[in-house]
Amino acid sequence: MPLKTLAEYESLAVQAHGHLCAGQILGLRLAMHGIQLLGIDDPTGKDRKRLVTYVEIDRCAADAITVVTGCRLGKRALKFRDFGKVAATFCDLAENRAVRVLALESSRQIAAERYPGIADRNAQQMAAYRELSDAELFDHQWVRVNIGPEDLPGYRAPRAICAACGESVSFRREVQIDGRILCRACAGERYYEPTEPRP
Ligand SMILES: [Zn+2]
Ligand SMILES: [Zn+2]
Repeated sequence: MPLKTLAEYESLAVQAHGHLCAGQILGLRLAMHGIQLLGIDDPTGKDRKRLVTYVEIDRCAADAITVVTGCRLGKRALKFRDFGKVAATFCDLAENRAVRVLALESSRQIAAERYPGIADRNAQQMAAYRELSDAELFDHQWVRVNIGPEDLPGYRAPRAICAACGESVSFRREVQIDGRILCRACAGERYYEPTEPRP
């Protein structure tokens, strides 16, 4: 099943994200552009094992990008880098090439100029994100992404047990410090503080 039309992706995005918004449309266009640049025509079908996507934002556009690419966290094919940019990098594992696509701020200005009759800003942006050319919406650059074997979708490794907390760690996410095998939480990356008993 080759790339769908924008309208088809819009209806899938509504299902996935709960509503349609300008950010969704921009994300759909961004992912379609990236995949077309790579020359991949069936990202959720026959080419589904070729693609790894890095997203640089955790807003509406990110959900839309997963709709087009089929790359999901649960398949280890979606990577999140919290850069606060409407950008994503699409990596074709089969051809060993990657392209980073960035949404241009200048498209807002073009939207205002091209659709002066649409007063509502959101409606104006939605129209623009549907109709502006890829060149008006995006910049792109070819990049190299070094994806370690443990970050590839099918990677497996023996389970380790953290010497501090006893929890088991899969896929070689453990670290070794002073000869001890530790989970990343015990190694200093813990993002939570125990609050027993329940507050
Ligand atoms: Zn949204
Ligand atoms: Zn631990």
